[in-house]
Amino acid sequence: MKLRCVIFDLDGTIVDVPYDWDKIRVELETQGIPILHFLNSLEEPERSEKWQILERYEDEATRKAELKQGMHELLDLLTKKGIKKAVVTNNSQKNAFYLLEKFNLNFDYIITRESGLWKPSGAPFLEVMKKLGLKKEECSVVGDSPFDVRAANEVGISRVFILSENRERFASTDVELFNSVEALRQELEKLLKKTE
Ligand SMILES: [Mg+2]
Repeated sequence: MKLRCVIFDLDGTIVDVPYDWDKIRVELETQGIPILHFLNSLEEPERSEKWQILERYEDEATRKAELKQGMHELLDLLTKKGIKKAVVTNNSQKNAFYLLEKFNLNFDYIITRESGLWKPSGAPFLEVMKKLGLKKEECSVVGDSPFDVRAANEVGISRVFILSENRERFASTDVELFNSVEALRQELEKLLKKTE
């Protein structure tokens, strides 16, 4: 089926951000639970204290973020072909809007963590499909982490493109790996030509 929408992750996908998630998890003592779920399960005052720690790391990383090379060209291709573009991020609205504005990026729909819909659940992807009136077969996901893959799998989006050089991390999945945005752009260009 024709591709009509690409749903992007933000951190590590659209922008390079210097997060050390292992260090953050240790400091927050998340015990293997996804961070946002873990923080919301805590009682006060620990809950507020640990949210502040996460937000401090996020603010710092966001300020240091750099747009991935080739991202404007990739997004321009999609715009030219009439493909919708969405962002689904577990980051905050404040940080997401800061980055999109800073790098002058336009998207048709943006879901941040304030929605309460968080990856690795597929719920935020379902929300994008509902809002933009799309079927799962018409969507593709671009991400950089196993959370993106799990969320896509949960809702049956089968075209998942991962920007990563770490083949081992995705060895048990059937996603397509790309080591640059430019390589992904070329693949999407080919795909779009085929389905025109
Ligand atoms: Mg990411």
